[in-house]
Amino acid sequence: PSLNTSPSSNLIVISGPSGVGKTTIVDEVVQRTDSRYSVSATTKSPRKGEIDGIDYHFVTEEAFRDAVDHGLMLEWAEYAGYLYGTPEREVQAAFDDQVNLILNIEIEGAKQIRQSHPDAVLIFINPPSLDELAKRLSGRGDTAPDDIERRLSVAAGEMAEAPAVYDHIVENVDLERAVDEVLGILGEEDTEFTVQ
Ligand code: 5GP
Repeated sequence: PSLNTSPSSNLIVISGPSGVGKTTIVDEVVQRTDSRYSVSATTKSPRKGEIDGIDYHFVTEEAFRDAVDHGLMLEWAEYAGYLYGTPEREVQAAFDDQVNLILNIEIEGAKQIRQSHPDAVLIFINPPSLDELAKRLSGRGDTAPDDIERRLSVAAGEMAEAPAVYDHIVENVDLERAVDEVLGILGEEDTEFTVQ
């Protein structure tokens, strides 16, 4: 990754239904640009392979609500029965280090970021279709059937609302092309955003 010589950093929000390939896209973007991944706090339990402090900060509901009450969350939302939020210190550290920060968050959080940081770049990743999303979610084999149902109904709502909220909508039919499209958007949005 190249050094960020930009005098300021920016927030990049990447949203999309779970199962859309968002994590892979976000990982690629983090690796290929001068940016850092924002580690969210959540009250859910770790999914297979998820590591505390790297993928999420796994916390109790009490600790989460306490952080919200003390104004330590830049944004937060409930998603499929659990709480998720961006710790203010993630953003502060990125700004101090002058790197761009990639936020992998859902739509309610994206709206809060739009309010607090009007310069943020908001990108929504669309699946080819809801049917295809259902297939990918059950094929992943790490999500319970009733969890899949909940996530699909959340996804339908998000996809309908996305055009009114996001700056860019990217279709993930082909992963490589979706990554290229996101990198292209970031290169255009901010000329100081260095894409390798
Ligand atoms: P998952 O449990 O599949 O990792 O995440 C579920 C949803 O929560 C995803 O849409 C993800 O982007 C979103 N999410 C993860 N972290 C945050 C966060 O800090 N804030 C908000 N608002 N949503 C988040």
